[in-house]
Amino acid sequence: MGTMRWMENDAENDAARNSIDPEIEAYLDRTREARHASYLEFLRIPSISSLPEHAPDVRRAARWIAAELTRIGFEGVEVAETAGHPVVYADWLHAPGAPTVLVYCHYDVQPVDPIEAWETAPFDPFIRDGRVVGRGAADDKGQLHLHLQAAEALFATRGRLPLNVRILFEGEEEITSISLAPWLEANRERLAADAVIISDTGFFEGNLPALTVALRGNLYTQIDVTGSPVDLHSGGFGGGVENPANALAGIISQLKDRDGRVTIPGFYDEVIEPTRQERFEISCLPFDEDAFRAEIGVRALSPERGWTALECRAVRPTLDVNGLWGGFQGDGQKTIIPASAHAKVSCRLVPNQAPDRVFERFRDHVLRIAPPGVTVEVRNLGTALPVRTDTTHPIAQAALAALRAEFGREPLLIRAGGTIGVASMFVSQLGLPLVMLGFTNPDDNAHAPNEFMLLENYERGLRTICRLWDDLGAKSGDRAHDMATAGEAGTAARG
Ligand SMILES: [Zn+2]
Repeated sequence: MGTMRWMENDAENDAARNSIDPEIEAYLDRTREARHASYLEFLRIPSISSLPEHAPDVRRAARWIAAELTRIGFEGVEVAETAGHPVVYADWLHAPGAPTVLVYCHYDVQPVDPIEAWETAPFDPFIRDGRVVGRGAADDKGQLHLHLQAAEALFATRGRLPLNVRILFEGEEEITSISLAPWLEANRERLAADAVIISDTGFFEGNLPALTVALRGNLYTQIDVTGSPVDLHSGGFGGGVENPANALAGIISQLKDRDGRVTIPGFYDEVIEPTRQERFEISCLPFDEDAFRAEIGVRALSPERGWTALECRAVRPTLDVNGLWGGFQGDGQKTIIPASAHAKVSCRLVPNQAPDRVFERFRDHVLRIAPPGVTVEVRNLGTALPVRTDTTHPIAQAALAALRAEFGREPLLIRAGGTIGVASMFVSQLGLPLVMLGFTNPDDNAHAPNEFMLLENYERGLRTICRLWDDLGAKSGDRAHDMATAGEAGTAARG
């Protein structure tokens, strides 16, 4: 309940909240049950992008969204093919003079294992105690769904949107957006916009409303160490040959030092260190290290020496083993020198690190420290650039105002530790300003068992979007009207 505290009976917040268009509120009030039923229906589709057996489900989710977009009032709705899972595109472009926003969310979800850790079936979602529980409830189907519902409320009450909206919902975010780059390149024109709104982030610890202003990038690698072509008898051969599992453990132990610093030469070369002011601002964020430690259930936090845990989660690069295997894994004993051993190792990167350059340094270092008796291969499985956004952009300012108006408090500006590969694509390929406006509670268990979204965040999130669209539309309202009138006159003259 701690996360909800600030929302309850807070007279000051209520006073700061200004009211939303009463017609919209009445509509949202009237349609609440149907909205939640639709949310759950969407969550029931097991759109796990990484598992080939779920490919038909991913497609079914895309079609489900497309049908909703059409029903709501969007045009040009398309389930667009890519080399992988489809992209859902739609638009509504009848607000001349008003800004055009491109809305990005993703409809694919993470696998569910360990399935036994779920209290109920991950694709049999339910709402209880103010929580929507199920795989994708927060990441990112809940956020996608609230965008659908915000648009529906506006279309249903007014027959139009206050601004131009393009929709791009992806089905491969959880597998590093592998097919999206060529699709963006081929669809440049129809993605033209004043900014892209990415709703795939969340609030700060304590469920405090926030705008995400930076994301870490990512480098994902695999190390394969091989010795003999077959497992060897550890009695007959042990001691005489290099053991690939020992060798891999040795390599991994030399990637970081006791202070938590990555020891790869050149790893930190391009890192932009936060300024003293930035570090001060981070230290002012309402973050309780001990509560955080208790929440994640570890004995102690182990930040890099010289940095706080919060800094390490956002402004510092990392190196982590994500998986490690090789040799005998069964019950009991089997005395072998394994033929091979493997590790998945990833690095979260911060501005201005270049993932490909970091990979080269990583690979060279691993090969340099590998013992001579084994063959070591290091592969780059995927990268994403770190990004930073411009908070002075008018659409970012409007997003902050909408959050402030809906939640009745000043939103925080936070750097998120995670990565959204598509964020860097929008910047580098389309040159679009980014606004990362997401609404999930920070304890949402994304990617983990018992994922949930607070219904309050969902409901207020969709109202925030209504406010934002209205605000952006209103600022250009007079100009839009003039242009619409001129447009009609022009058409008449030509006809
Ligand atoms: Zn996501």
